[in-house]
Formats: sequence, C-alpha cells, structure tokens
Amino acid sequence: MTKKSETGSTKSETKSKSEIRNWAPINEIANDVRAGKITALSNVEKSIGLIEKHSEFDAIISVLDEPAKKRAKQIDARVNNGEKAGRLAGVPFIAKDNFLVFGGETTAASNILKGFEAPYQATVINKLEAEGAICIAKANLDAFAHGSSTENSDFFVTKNPIDKTRVPGGSSGGSAAATALSLAPFSLGTDTGGSIRQPASFCNVVGFKPTYGLVSRSGVVAMASSLDVIGPITKSTEDAALIMDVIAGKDKLDMTMIDRDILAYTKFNNNLTGVKIGVEKEYMDEKVDKEVKQIISVAIEKLKNAGALVAEVSLPSSKLGLPAYYIISLAELSSNLSRYDGQRFGYSYPDAKNLDESYMLSRDIGFGDEAKRRIMIGTYVLSSGYYDAYYKKAQIVRTKIINESREAFSKFDFLIGPTTPTAAFKIGEKSQDPLQMYLSDLLTVSANLDGGPAISIPAGFAGSLPVGLHIMAPQGEDRKLLGIANGFEELSK
Ligand code: GLN
Repeated sequence: MTKKSETGSTKSETKSKSEIRNWAPINEIANDVRAGKITALSNVEKSIGLIEKHSEFDAIISVLDEPAKKRAKQIDARVNNGEKAGRLAGVPFIAKDNFLVFGGETTAASNILKGFEAPYQATVINKLEAEGAICIAKANLDAFAHGSSTENSDFFVTKNPIDKTRVPGGSSGGSAAATALSLAPFSLGTDTGGSIRQPASFCNVVGFKPTYGLVSRSGVVAMASSLDVIGPITKSTEDAALIMDVIAGKDKLDMTMIDRDILAYTKFNNNLTGVKIGVEKEYMDEKVDKEVKQIISVAIEKLKNAGALVAEVSLPSSKLGLPAYYIISLAELSSNLSRYDGQRFGYSYPDAKNLDESYMLSRDIGFGDEAKRRIMIGTYVLSSGYYDAYYKKAQIVRTKIINESREAFSKFDFLIGPTTPTAAFKIGEKSQDPLQMYLSDLLTVSANLDGGPAISIPAGFAGSLPVGLHIMAPQGEDRKLLGIANGFEELSK
C-alpha cells in the first residue's frame, strides 16, 4: 500500500526551504480531481504513503485509512457520474486530534480520552467534507492543547521536520509538522494563545488564526472558551484563504459566532503600496533573539521597498499579555476540564469504592502533569479571596490590551513583529521549566486576548532554523490580513 512520494530527497534532517512540494496548490488538486485527471483515491493513498514514510517524525496519532478510502471512492463516483464534487474535491487533510471526527478516536493526546469515539462530528469537518475534502489522519498535540512544544502529549513527542532534535512547537505541533512534511495538502489547528502560529513559525509553514467567532468550534475539545479559535495550517496564504472560505460562517451550534465576510476570503487585495504597518516596539526588544530580530528587520525593509508605510508603535500593556493569558486561560480551562470526571466518557478508574473515589482516581490517573498544574492554578485564581487579586485583575489587563490595540489600529492597518522570541528550541530544553515554556507565547497571546486575526508566514532562516513573520489585523479584517500576507509571500518568492 505504501506509495513512495515523488520527493527525491529523503534526508529529512536537512530539509530546507527548497524542499520539494509534494502537492499542487489546493485549488489545482481539486480542479484535477473534478476534471478526472487524478482520483480522490490516489490522493488518499499518496497521503497514507507519505504518513508511513515520515513516521519517524511522530506527527500523527491515528490514520483514518478505511473511512478516508471509502469517502474517496464516493467522490470519484460523483465525478464519474458528472455530479458536483465540491470545491475541495478529493483533497486530503489532517486534523489536530482535538477535533471530533467520525471513523476513529479523538484523544486530544490525553490518556483520559484514549479510546473515545465521537458521537458527533465537528462542524468544520462537516463543512470541509461537504466540499469534498477528506480527513485522512489525526495529528499529535500537547494534551488538551496545553503547551508550546508537543512535549506535553501523553503519547509521544513530535519532531521538527527541519531538525529532528528540536520541537515542532505547539500545541498544534503535529499539524504544523504534517503540513511541513507535506503529509497532506493542509492541516487544521486550534489557537488559544498561539498554538497555530507558533508551530507554523517553527516548521516554516503558514498558520492562520481567524477572528474569534468566525469559525465554529462545535465539536472541538474546548480549552479556554473566550480565546479558542480554529484555523488552517498550509503551505501558502492562497491555500489558507481557500480553506477559510470553506470553514468560516455562522453555525447555530456555537453561540459565540459573528458574521463572515460576504466576499470570498480568496478575493483579497495583495497590494502593499500605501499600506500602514506598525512595528510593535515591545516585540522587537531584548526579549527577542538577535537573529530572529535580524530576519524580521529584513522583512520590514522588503515591505517598505514594496511601498508599505512602516513606523514604530508602542503598546505598553502588551508585556502584561502573557501573565493575563496564563490567568484567564487557566481559569477557563480548569472549568472546561471538569467534564472529564470518569463517569460519562473517557477513562474511568475500574475499582473505585464510591463516587468520590471514582472522580478522584479517574482524574488522577487520566490527566497528565501539565493538565493537573493548570487545573490547580486555574482553580486557585478563581477561588474566593484570590479572585480579585488574579482573575479580575487579568480581565482588567485584557480590556487595556483591547483598548490599546484599537488605538493602534486607528493609525495602522496592521501590526507586525516576530511570531516567536526564538526559533525552534531543542527537545527537552524547556520541558522541565514551565515558565520558560510559557514565555515562548510572549508575542502571540495578545491577538487571542483582543480577538483579532493574526498570521505567521515564513520570513527566512536564522542559521538553519525558520523564523515566522507575525501580522495582526483588527477584528473582522481577515481577508485584508490574508491580502498583505500574500503580498509579503510574493516578495519572498
Ligand atoms: N502555548 C500556549 C499554552 O500553552 C497556547 C496554547 C494554545 O494556543 N492552545 O497555553
């Protein structure tokens, strides 16, 4: 069954930016399937072959082999019968394993959900399937999306495709590695504090975090509900725009949703002339590696040369973003994780003497260390006597951040900086020091706190490691953001 890929080089350790693309742009793949030039089944077989070939990177938790082939045959039959096959006809994709998908387990990379088969499917998966896309596998993550390296997965650590001794980032590390390795044309991630953008930056791919409420979260394992969003991880901004166009839009199963753009997200304007860009001063200071800043400075020059109007801007509260994020998100997730009590689904301790013991031992054995740490801190900051000192204060900071970014966006169309303070770090380098790990989210959390869209796009290499350019836009300006990102991508070609 293993079909060797068309990639010449298999020297995965030395994959560079010249890595051969295994897949055409997504709209071309779908066109070819609809035209009968390639079959959906051959795409699925190719994807399965690539997953096997690159198994050493441990990007994947489970492969949906049989259901994917079955769907592919249905799509090929539609094409043969001259019926509509969809905008994503026969395009395989990989979902982070916190999306509920029929045909296999949904574990969120946690022992407490091992063996769990979803009784319903995520809205985004339904939307993608309705357009002919095929979910081929589930990607590794930090358990429950808590982390920045996938080292918190209860199962195994994903390796960075560019350097196997390094982390792929997290929590959508498996998804970003899968896209970088071209295991499928795109993957899905979730982003609560940077989990799409940070791994995209570490793996040299495009990671898009839409405006909060633009994509339904029904059927996705909740982390922190006022921050969680879903988005694509792709090889290009054009692919990201196409996937956004399919998955964005209201869903009555998610009450937090906003209206989508009437115009297609693929109809963006990539003209950089006269575009006003603010470089966030606090994101280019001593907390960021020199080499990373160097790459971003080059990117800024390129944007200027292309006609963009670039100036420095200060958002003084942004440095409080990280502590505020780690209070608000932990408070919310401690509440969301209370549903894993060993009674209705997931792991249940088999020999409990009574209900209390069943709760306690199911959670004690089922949750990993990081989930327990977060539940304890989250419960603490919400508890009487500490609520005002922590949770309430963090909410005040969040409002300040929102106001400051509104003020900045009254002067600038976009805000830019590096996605991460460092390039991909070594496996094990930060796993014993949670604070150091949390610091890798320094530059991404503000966009979650203010709810606006943000993207990480490949900007260059610091030595052999990729660096991502982070661009933020005001809430609802997702299409505009895809446009400038595409403009920048064109400059780098
Ligand atoms: N790394 C951040 C955290 O550990 C973000 C996680 C996320 O976006 N899911 O909380």
